[in-house]
Amino acid sequence: MKIYEPKRALYRKNKPTTGCCQFCDKKTINEQQCLSLESKHWMVVVNKYPYMDGNVMIIPKRHVRNVADLLKDEWFEFQDILEKTMKKLSQIFKTEDFNIGANIGIDAGGSIEHLHWQIIPRRKKISNSVNIFADIEVITILPEDLRKIIDKNKL
Ligand SMILES: [Zn+2]
Repeated sequence: MKIYEPKRALYRKNKPTTGCCQFCDKKTINEQQCLSLESKHWMVVVNKYPYMDGNVMIIPKRHVRNVADLLKDEWFEFQDILEKTMKKLSQIFKTEDFNIGANIGIDAGGSIEHLHWQIIPRRKKISNSVNIFADIEVITILPEDLRKIIDKNKL
C-alpha cells in the first residue's frame, strides 16, 4: 500500500533559510515545541506528520547527526527528558506501552539529519471501519492540539 502525503515531502525538502535544518529553525520549532517539557539540552516537539496519536520527538537543541556526537551532559539529561515525556504521555493516553526509536542517517530512514527520537504511546487499536477494512491507523489528534494537551497537563 502507498499513501500519498505531499506535505510531508515538502517539510523535508524545504530547508529553512535560517538555521541549518528544520529542527534548528526557531520558527519551525516554535510551532511544534512543548515548552512544559523543555530542558537545558533537549526539546520535545510534536511530530507534524505523526505515525500515530501522541507521536512526539525528543531532539537535542544542538545540531548533531549521531549519538556519538552527544556530550556526556546531554546523554545524562536525556534519561530525565525521556522519563518525563513518557510519564506525561502515559497520563494523557492512559498507557505504559511505547515505541521509542531513532533512524540515524538518510540510509536508515532518517528524514531530517538532526538526531531525534520518535516517542509513540501505544494503545489498543480503536476499531473503526478504516482500521477493520484497510488496516490503517487513523490519527485522531491534530499535532497542534497534542501540543496544547501536553503543555496543559501537569506532571
Ligand atoms: Zn539541526
